[in-house]
Amino acid sequence: MESVKVIIVGGGAAGLAAAKTLGSNVDYLLIEAQNYIGGRIRTIDAVPNVTVDLGAQFIHGETNNLLYEICKSLDCILPVTDIKSNEILAITSDRTIVDPEIIRQVLIVWEELLDEARSIFGDTTIPKNYPLSDYLLEHLKQRLLSAIPSLDNLVDAFCDFFNKGELIENGCFKLSDLSLAEYGSYEYLNGLYEIEFKNGGYRPFISYMKSFIPDDNRIRLNSEVIRVKYLKENHQLLVNIRHHDKTSEQQQPISAILCDHIIWTSSLGYLKENFSSIFVDEIELIEQKQDAINNLGFDVINKVIMIYEKLFWPENVGDIILLQAQKQKSIEFSNSLKNLLKTEKIDIQLINTIIEAIHRYVVLPSTNIPILICWFGGPAAVLLEDLSEYIIGQICHEVLCYYLNISFKLNPLIRVLKSEWYKNKFIRGSYSYYSIKSSTKDGEQLRATYAPDGIPRIQFAGEATSARAYSTVHGALESGIRESNILLSIMNK
Ligand SMILES: Cc1cc2nc3c(=O)[nH]c(=O)nc-3n(C[C@H](O)[C@H](O)[C@H](O)COP(=O)(O)OP(=O)(O)OC[C@H]3O[C@@H](n4cnc5c(N)ncnc54)[C@H](O)[C@@H]3O)c2cc1C
Repeated sequence: MESVKVIIVGGGAAGLAAAKTLGSNVDYLLIEAQNYIGGRIRTIDAVPNVTVDLGAQFIHGETNNLLYEICKSLDCILPVTDIKSNEILAITSDRTIVDPEIIRQVLIVWEELLDEARSIFGDTTIPKNYPLSDYLLEHLKQRLLSAIPSLDNLVDAFCDFFNKGELIENGCFKLSDLSLAEYGSYEYLNGLYEIEFKNGGYRPFISYMKSFIPDDNRIRLNSEVIRVKYLKENHQLLVNIRHHDKTSEQQQPISAILCDHIIWTSSLGYLKENFSSIFVDEIELIEQKQDAINNLGFDVINKVIMIYEKLFWPENVGDIILLQAQKQKSIEFSNSLKNLLKTEKIDIQLINTIIEAIHRYVVLPSTNIPILICWFGGPAAVLLEDLSEYIIGQICHEVLCYYLNISFKLNPLIRVLKSEWYKNKFIRGSYSYYSIKSSTKDGEQLRATYAPDGIPRIQFAGEATSARAYSTVHGALESGIRESNILLSIMNK
């Protein structure tokens, strides 16, 4: 039977960082269930010479951020001075354009309120099950109105807009799932918060990280670790692997490898679904982690990427926001879309949920091709996975045209792409958050090492194990380095 020193499970940012840190002299294998390296970083060629990221898109912060340092040295960051489209265009559902000065003031109030919510972190008087939604309900409307009395008839639309954005920011299904007490545990790094990539997106970063792995069959793609058992007698782990490159499920062969250590980096979503079966033989490990896996939050956000031939919104606009007034008029779709929805038997309730969730179109600044990204959170993010790219793209397009008050026939989409992070059975969502059922203790439990003979045998990395930067690429990167350094210190003893 094949035997190696270390198995790294997962080839996302955490697994790649673990491999780079161990170095090529350590006898390791990187086992990846899917047919590509990158995990939740996935850069796609959208149209000739233009890439888009279906997963992670930004770098969050500059100071004390290794990811930023690496990408800066790779010269793949888009300079802020190259971003010409940076104005916000806010439109109400009765097609009124909101004064940019109002938007500026509203954003200040919102940011201040979130800063206050973050400062609650560490306050033990706040019950763990107190959700962020209650805090916002108590303060947001009243703060907005007292800062900007003229907002009166728009205040509810703004509250709704911010709530939808916050679902995406935190990757949670509803804001009542999000813990207020832990909201401030995420550390905002100094510098720009949403650093954009040049055309090529995250791809140069993944290529760079991969370049540290020798080309000697150390990466095994299409290989899912399905069972791990610690063998007391020889202090090794028996790892069963299912090979997914075969066509039929029944024919997928299973192989076994022995190793001394595992660095496990799969998403929390994957762990929620598979942890107890993979580690069925390791009762103590299940006792150590199962509660943390259940308690921590992991839902889904998705993107719909809309590619046009020519620009039809103002050139200086980088962000189109939709403010849905209380009495939202129903949007009259084109006959062809109506017919298609009918033929495909798509439930009207589903369409309404999707329309309601649309609140923002963000221009991709790394290319001259007009590309809008429509971000979805909450129930709509799951529902859209069952729609074809054509249908969801057309819905997003026609809603935008309605708000802009232009004909949807004039500027047809040339391509639509969408992510499906929930359907992906090796990911099962987007990123982790502290739910009202969880606390910092759960994070600690999740990253705790399993050492059945006193020596760390199974270590856990991945974004969800990061204390300060869960949900991010830089958090994932740091977690892989953290666990490999622990292992190196043991191996060098
Ligand atoms: C839509 C979206 C937008 C995002 N935007 C940003 C952003 O702008 N900035 C940012 O910093 N972060 C963003 N994120 C989050 C970021 O992508 C993740 O935090 C990060 O990429 C996670 O890396 P990871 O290595 O921890 O996990 P993953 O990337 O999930 O890697 C784990 C790997 O393990 C594999 N795997 C799972 N189970 C097994 C098994 N049993 N055997 C073998 N392999 C297995 C999976 O296939 C996967 O490749 C976004 C995520 C999404 C989904």
